[in-house]
Amino acid sequence: MENFALAEARGKLEKTGYLDIDLDPQKDLFQEIERLKREKNAIILAHYYQEPDIQDVADYIGDSLGLAQAAAKTEADVIVFAGVHFMAETAKILNPGKKVLLPDLKAGCSLADSAPAEPFRKFKQAHPDHVVISYINCTAEIKALSDIICTSSNAEKIIESVPAGQPIIFAPDKNLGAYLRKKTGRDMLLWDGACMVHEIFSLEKITRLKIRHPEAKVIAHPECEEAVLRVADYIGSTTQLLKFTQKDPGQAYIVATETGILHQMQKESPLKTFIPAPPTNNCACNDCPHMKLNTLEKVYLCMEYGLPEILMEESLRVAARKPIDRMLDISRKAGLIGG
Ligand code: SF4
Repeated sequence: MENFALAEARGKLEKTGYLDIDLDPQKDLFQEIERLKREKNAIILAHYYQEPDIQDVADYIGDSLGLAQAAAKTEADVIVFAGVHFMAETAKILNPGKKVLLPDLKAGCSLADSAPAEPFRKFKQAHPDHVVISYINCTAEIKALSDIICTSSNAEKIIESVPAGQPIIFAPDKNLGAYLRKKTGRDMLLWDGACMVHEIFSLEKITRLKIRHPEAKVIAHPECEEAVLRVADYIGSTTQLLKFTQKDPGQAYIVATETGILHQMQKESPLKTFIPAPPTNNCACNDCPHMKLNTLEKVYLCMEYGLPEILMEESLRVAARKPIDRMLDISRKAGLIGG
């Protein structure tokens, strides 16, 4: 019976993006996932934007930089990447010999989608004297067309590593690019891409929240629009925001990034108050619909059956690896990550 269900789910995988198999509701998925980790020598890497249950079964939780480093270092045979497609691709680029599983192949990213390979190749060809720095939130094809990759944790250091006077293309996030252009004073040509989650925070609603909670500090991710960044008391990558809330003496924060991070913030500082910054639509908080496609059930199913798996052409993988290695090298030298 199970084999028939598996065969059927496998046949539909391209359409569904995950193994659509009914599970016994009595199954203790937390226990089952721990068993599978041991049996298959598997590790679960989860992004801060994953749902709390997934964060709680993860072996490592982090932002893009931390996850890339954890993927580069792991000795596990199987990497379960609870995040979105470009992140699992990055893990595969760094670990060609390992099986990399993504619980739902349809967990994409609007920012990565905003930089398709062919138009970007033409853009690059039109500016042949520019060094290309790409934010890690891009496809393997864009990585292969880049000179150095960066994350929001290390972007300033990466830009500073390029000799002054050398023109730079920054892709794909125009908001992060504009923020970095201001911070570093470097002349950068920006690709016109954006993240659907960070672009729709409502300045008006944040201002109203600030009036209702005058003691709360606004903390924001640099993917947010400039108007939101202007009212922020602190701007940083997801990890930097988390660390800020741990060290800062304040007791309340309005958090302008994906709401998944609030789970760790609340765990680390149980007595503090965290208020998600509202978007311009009718929702009270701002979830990434792509990140939230992964569920605990899908994590279990992909571990049990080894599907869906990230596969990649070797020539693309090798080309995409070079700019990631440069990023890890510069980050190590700058003391941003351990050896
Ligand atoms: S939050 Fe934005 S950048 Fe991150 S995965 Fe979702 S769409 Fe992509």
